[in-house]
Amino acid sequence: MGRCACGGVRFAVSAPFESARYCHCHNCQRRTGTSSSANARLRGEAFEVLEGAELLRSWQPEGGQAKWYCAGCGGHLFSRPQGAEHLFVRLGVLEGDPGIRPSYRQWISSAASWEDIPNDGLPRFPGPGDA
Ligand SMILES: [Zn+2]
Ligand SMILES: [Zn+2]
Repeated sequence: MGRCACGGVRFAVSAPFESARYCHCHNCQRRTGTSSSANARLRGEAFEVLEGAELLRSWQPEGGQAKWYCAGCGGHLFSRPQGAEHLFVRLGVLEGDPGIRPSYRQWISSAASWEDIPNDGLPRFPGPGDA
């Protein structure tokens, strides 16, 4: 289960997440206002919007994935590559333990100058990671 900040959008997750990572790309930094975004990959059919589908909006960055958010609160929910059968759910919008932990860091070539990348031992990729 997960929800946006205002609770207008609620969704269910019916399968285990396939992988998880921190993304330090500029798109993630600008839309979240933070140094990176933590997200987990999920098969599309395992994601179901229970409430608030009419509140969902997306932004399609050039050369990036569509970013879906709630029109009521602006809260980010997930991203989905065009035509893909999977999506990336923001870990921060999930209720309870997602059952997975981020296992690498990607796009560290654009890591924020104002925060050191945590020394957590996770593999680091200058560009996109392996999932
Ligand atoms: Zn909302
Ligand atoms: Zn990113």
